[in-house]
Amino acid sequence: MLTGLDIKKSFGSTEVLKDVNIQVKPGRISVLIGPSGSGKTTLIRALALLDFPDSGEIAFDGHTYKFPLNDNQVIEPPWPDLTVVFQQHFLWPHLTLRKNILLPLSKKTDSHHTVDDLIKIFQMEDFIDRYPNEVSIGQRQRAALARAFALEPKYILLDEITSALDVEQTGAVIRHLLTLRDQGIGLLVVTHLLAFARELVAKDEGDHIYFLDNGKILGSGGLEFFENPGSERAKQFISSMDYWTGNNKVS
Ligand code: ADP
Ligand code: MG
Repeated sequence: MLTGLDIKKSFGSTEVLKDVNIQVKPGRISVLIGPSGSGKTTLIRALALLDFPDSGEIAFDGHTYKFPLNDNQVIEPPWPDLTVVFQQHFLWPHLTLRKNILLPLSKKTDSHHTVDDLIKIFQMEDFIDRYPNEVSIGQRQRAALARAFALEPKYILLDEITSALDVEQTGAVIRHLLTLRDQGIGLLVVTHLLAFARELVAKDEGDHIYFLDNGKILGSGGLEFFENPGSERAKQFISSMDYWTGNNKVS
């Protein structure tokens, strides 16, 4: 289990995360929704121990880290057991997509088979040996996802990874995320697409939706959360997601 407890984080005098509590369970999908600027990326960076919270606790598979840290305390980010894919996919520009995927795996001799499978799953055969600047943003996005999945992490945090993908590619990603969940991987998925969120949580009651607004979790729940979000604010936000995904019902 990956848990964030009472996470606070400020940049200067701006409080960006205000006592956030969130859980990512093995074999479950947590979906994080919320307006732009509400703190989703900051929360992902904190949970992955890339950018420490000011206060609160992060627990990861039996280890508990309390913030602020003691003066002499050093934390190694738990990569690759906990792997993040950001919207801006940080590929090495001087390596082909294939080498971008293979390089972090150099010590894992058994993973080349996985890489070949991922290249097929994400239909990357035609461009896998090109450099990042020779492919589209969506193709880079798929390479960044394949690189993360090839590491076979126990937990994977995905920050708006579908923004450059078409419907068919998003479908392939959804199917793969559901497969990973069924294999026991814990997933946290940030998305602004209601249809994507619904597909991910639809099939399992243990999956969970969190609504982050202005640095606070304003509501959470299972799939029913979309129909009964509790607060007016969450309702308003969810209906705006509907609007932009084209599922808007005009009444
Ligand atoms: P989201 O991912 O939900 O769009 P972010 O977590 O990126 O939101 O940002 C939340 C708030 O924190 C925004 O107001 C943003 O400007 C601010 N912020 C994020 N990172 C930094 C930073 N490194 N320095 C200063 N402000 C930041
Ligand atoms: Mg963000």
